[in-house]
Amino acid sequence: ARKYVLTKYFDGEPKKTDFKIVEEELPELKNGEILTEAEYLSVDPYMRAYMIGYKLPTDMIGGQVAKIIESRNEKFPVGKYVAGSFGWRTHTVCNPSEQPKQIFLPLTLLPELGSYPVSLGLGILGMPGNTSYFGLKEICKPKPGETIVITGAAGAVGSHVGQIGKILGCRVVGFAGTDDKCEYLIKELGFDHAYNYRTSNIKAALKEAAPKRVDCYFDNVGGEISTTIMNHMNHYGRIAVCGSISSYNDSILPKVTILQPAIVFKELKVEGFLVNRWVNRWEEGINANLNWLREGKLKYQERIYHGFDNMVEALNGILRGENTGKAIVKVK
Ligand code: NDP
Repeated sequence: ARKYVLTKYFDGEPKKTDFKIVEEELPELKNGEILTEAEYLSVDPYMRAYMIGYKLPTDMIGGQVAKIIESRNEKFPVGKYVAGSFGWRTHTVCNPSEQPKQIFLPLTLLPELGSYPVSLGLGILGMPGNTSYFGLKEICKPKPGETIVITGAAGAVGSHVGQIGKILGCRVVGFAGTDDKCEYLIKELGFDHAYNYRTSNIKAALKEAAPKRVDCYFDNVGGEISTTIMNHMNHYGRIAVCGSISSYNDSILPKVTILQPAIVFKELKVEGFLVNRWVNRWEEGINANLNWLREGKLKYQERIYHGFDNMVEALNGILRGENTGKAIVKVK
């Protein structure tokens, strides 16, 4: 197997020189174990924010979709695909019944996908899909007719949250980083409004798109735009704090804006969450998203990078906003 080992903490944008690529000999399979070969590796924003908690050197974390190429486990036969948190590596030996403690993507056998690509196990049928499904339904709890605002709206999670919002009968407003992304959100995904946060006046946009103010805010980016949106919320508004990508690359955090008056006087409910809270309901989310996909209610886009050696470029790609939809790396 080849694998990435992180040898230096990130400072600003991740660099190739923060890693070493190492060859590792894999052990013989024991009873219950499988050997997998990675076909698609995931790059996700949490990778930039999360490594600070690890002692170096450490194997790089991350999700992948892999093919089972040897098996001593009847439930996981050769030729089937699994999604799991194996990290940035080409081959893995593991026992599917022994899940690692800190996981964002539990090891699951992919359902039969017919003509859909297995890479969806990293996107709408995987961790971002369940983040959208549970984050919106369980934290924002939107009712039909309510207005949902989403930042990072054209990314893996944001684009999915908006589509579920439309399925649930809500008015959906997105903010994303280019005009093309905004056009895609409105024309292809059915968002009611979408604005380029780099060029729009956020307050004016909210006034236009949410004349009855905002009931649910799905926050993927944090920072100043979130303060502006929270100040435009309705009484008893609900805020799902999913991520804060706008500050992941900063070594010095930007100045803090005081949010508490809006939270108190509008009696807002602000709740952070990690998707693995719903690890025991994982299949429910996957099945709901798969059904919507089959019914034509859910669309997806993938930004595919190529080659195991290009993981760092791909990770930087999402931090720079190169992707619409889910960014993945095709290993071969
Ligand atoms: P995306 O596919 O959305 O990729 C990241 C996107 O963020 C980019 O395309 C870019 O789009 C946008 N972005 C980058 N820098 C900035 C910035 N400074 N300000 C605003 N937007 C920026 O990633 P995901 O959908 O996978 O993740 C979205 C968020 O959800 C992240 O914050 C992530 O950490 C979080 N997350 C949280 C989970 C949880 O369990 N809580 C699970 C999964 C994800 P643009 O062109 O619009 O700038």
